[in-house]
Amino acid sequence: MSQSIAVIKGDGIGPEIMEATLRVLDALDCGLTYQHIDAGLGALEKHGTLIPQESLDAIEKYGIALKGPLTTPIGKGFSSINVQLRRHFDLYANVRPAISFPGTRSRYDDIDMITVRENTEGAYLSDGQEMIDDGDTGISVIKVTRKGSERIVRYAFELAKNNGRKKVTAVHKANIIKTSSGLFLDVAREIAKEYPEIEFQEMIVDNACMQLVMNPHQFDVVVTTNLFGDILSDLCAGLVGGLGLAPGANIGEKAAIFEAVHGSAPDIEGKNIANPCALLLAAAQMLDHLGMTEKGTAIRQGIRTVLETRRDMVTPDMGGTGSTDSFAQALVEYV
Ligand code: NAD
Repeated sequence: MSQSIAVIKGDGIGPEIMEATLRVLDALDCGLTYQHIDAGLGALEKHGTLIPQESLDAIEKYGIALKGPLTTPIGKGFSSINVQLRRHFDLYANVRPAISFPGTRSRYDDIDMITVRENTEGAYLSDGQEMIDDGDTGISVIKVTRKGSERIVRYAFELAKNNGRKKVTAVHKANIIKTSSGLFLDVAREIAKEYPEIEFQEMIVDNACMQLVMNPHQFDVVVTTNLFGDILSDLCAGLVGGLGLAPGANIGEKAAIFEAVHGSAPDIEGKNIANPCALLLAAAQMLDHLGMTEKGTAIRQGIRTVLETRRDMVTPDMGGTGSTDSFAQALVEYV
């Protein structure tokens, strides 16, 4: 049966890397139908808004979106579309795998871990929810709820269980931020009891940063609140060679949006040198989510093979001499 997905090409390099990604998905014969929807700068020109209602309706209808990077125009009045989408669809879990690939410049070569970041509360409330900003003093709020903590920690344990992963580490700062981070840790301990087959570890965030840099192999699934997750997942991306290979999924009950972590890279737009890997790896996450794990694995394995054996087809940011097109072409041959 054919599955329809909403596709947002994105701004800057978005259309180039999306074209490469859809080429590979087509080669894999995934049975997907693409419903192209407007968002970002193109939508602003056409509809006067960065994310028109009909695009939101389409994401709601299909439940799955593959999204290229979007430029947030500079200036007041424009809030990030990514944040808007997260709020609108209550995409509470930000899932960011960090996997080593050959031929990348990084200190470690065999990392395989996932960060699960709470995506809707924590310190990221903005929109006037700060308590004070009088020019001299700024006071912000951190909101952690039992419900929000339960669902993110349970998501992390279910992810571990369903993917044969052995350990979940809850990262917190409960020793200092006792109310909010303390609640998150209490809930994590409670939920962990429901999964006796999975090892549970708790770690204070500053120690987690050091441990990640010194001995990242001890981690499997990391679950944490919004701000810590934002920082730690970029740290993890750095451990495996940077944002060029970093995908992310934003998952809620009613919708899931899969994207590259990097931005629209306007400095290299239209040059046919953008690395399509992060969006391809996001597409692989999407296929896993849709129950097509074999095809997701084929993308990851294909990227591995091309990086190892076809440097002439790989984009310059990965040290290759190829282009976006040649990278996609090589993948079409190897998946
Ligand atoms: P960026 O990630 O777009 O670019 C940072 C650097 O990395 C640039 O030098 C760029 O050329 C390079 N780069 C990024 N992706 C690459 C790829 N696939 N292949 C090769 N090189 C790549 O970050 P930025 O310049 O800070 O942001 C540009 C725009 O993107 C801004 O408008 C920002 O708001 C937006 N943005 C969007 C998202 C998203 O939609 N998820 C995420 C981050 C930034």
